[in-house]
Amino acid sequence: MTDAHCHLSCGDATIRELVVGRDFFGVHPWDAPRGLGEEPSIDDLASSLRRALAANPAAGVGEIGLDRLRERAIPPGMREAFEAQLAIAVELGRPVALHGAKCWGQVVEAVKRVLGRAAAPRPGQAFLFHGFSRSDGLVPDIVRLNGYISVGPAILNGHAVNYRALARKIPGDRLLVETDRTEGNAAECPSVRDVLAGLAEVRGEGVAALEAQTDANAERFMASVSAP
Ligand SMILES: [Zn+2]
Repeated sequence: MTDAHCHLSCGDATIRELVVGRDFFGVHPWDAPRGLGEEPSIDDLASSLRRALAANPAAGVGEIGLDRLRERAIPPGMREAFEAQLAIAVELGRPVALHGAKCWGQVVEAVKRVLGRAAAPRPGQAFLFHGFSRSDGLVPDIVRLNGYISVGPAILNGHAVNYRALARKIPGDRLLVETDRTEGNAAECPSVRDVLAGLAEVRGEGVAALEAQTDANAERFMASVSAP
């Protein structure tokens, strides 16, 4: 059983967790500088990311991305921090955990742009679209980018009709489950097993088969790390 994205361990040794700060390193869009030239500078941010990745050769980059949950316009510093970190991930061939609340189209475009600029993109490099909740129109682009989509606790909400419809359309070999467990939501955060069971029901699949599938997907996603 794999929780593909969380910030805090649930402490269950039978669950493999991909934890930000242990398996992934990067500056979250909420913590990114807002204006250009603001602290931390993009150079500082880039060198600390390179240091963390050098010290953790099996780790990925994330969660990084863009965000329009807190304000409508994306601050230029946030965009610059995202693209600088994404470029390092592409250069080093590390798996990337992406955040794109209310601006997934822009995140997909940025990934395409940075990959297009890369001197030598690694063919196996993979991207995790975490907390993805946009309609299914972007799914083919995500698949083409060697992307995975992780389904979260929202799947347990019977009223989340669009989210459930999206979850049915994600190809099986691109599917992951996550809790996005954090300090703030730890108390009411459902177990990743509940998320898996909810997703199996929505997709009309067996829980054991879906567990095996999502475990294999997580394995493939993390194994996309290139040898240094
Ligand atoms: Zn997160």
